[in-house]
Amino acid sequence: MNSITFLGTGGARVLVFKQLLASGGLWVEQADTTIALDPGPGALVQAIKQKFDPTKLDAILLSHRHLDHSGDVNTLIEAMTTGGFNRRGAVLAPRDAYEGDPVILRYLREYVDETLVIEEGGMYQIGDVVVRTPVRHDHPGEVYGFVFESAGCRWSYIADTRYFPELADHYRADVIVINAVRLEESEIYHLSIPDAKRLIEVIRPQTAILTHFGMTVWRADPSAVAEKLSEETGVEVVAARDGMKCQLPSPGQTED
Ligand SMILES: [Zn+2]
Repeated sequence: MNSITFLGTGGARVLVFKQLLASGGLWVEQADTTIALDPGPGALVQAIKQKFDPTKLDAILLSHRHLDHSGDVNTLIEAMTTGGFNRRGAVLAPRDAYEGDPVILRYLREYVDETLVIEEGGMYQIGDVVVRTPVRHDHPGEVYGFVFESAGCRWSYIADTRYFPELADHYRADVIVINAVRLEESEIYHLSIPDAKRLIEVIRPQTAILTHFGMTVWRADPSAVAEKLSEETGVEVVAARDGMKCQLPSPGQTED
């Protein structure tokens, strides 16, 4: 069965660095391929807590270099490769995660089979999953979301960005995961709940999952926010919870 597990649902600095919500990103199990996505601070601890085996990871993906998305990337590279004794796996991240003041340590890059640089419009094969990075986001630094495709399963992850109208077209999928940081619209480079609503109304997925909550959404109670969006859009909208596992469409599954 294909699934995603939330190793954390906290976003934005204050909430993450107080650990009001965990911040380990997503653990993806799709088409017999295991991927850690945006492993923020605590990803390894949260993965072990969920009884996942990090030495079985096939890849680690970063949407961008900010620490709430990348804090445990080096830890997970060590874990995936058993401290470098077992060279394997891939890392996929924007160029600025590797260069300048890199969040991916240079000596660890030798431990993995492949270090891949995200390009806008890129397509990458990770095990039996095709990963696409359709568009550069409007957020400080280099940021990309992901579309994951395997037989009978297509879902998308809309990482931090300021809303822009073309966003929905790039991330059409049956299940969409939205980094919904802010309760109200603002000028900062993050998606808000009204932005999430716009995306849901255009994409009309089977399920929309909100995660990466900032303080304002957290205070408003993410599950209440999601319920209201469900009522307003007629689409199933779920607020992720720390440790929550969601089934993704799997091949052979019939829709009813
Ligand atoms: Zn960010």
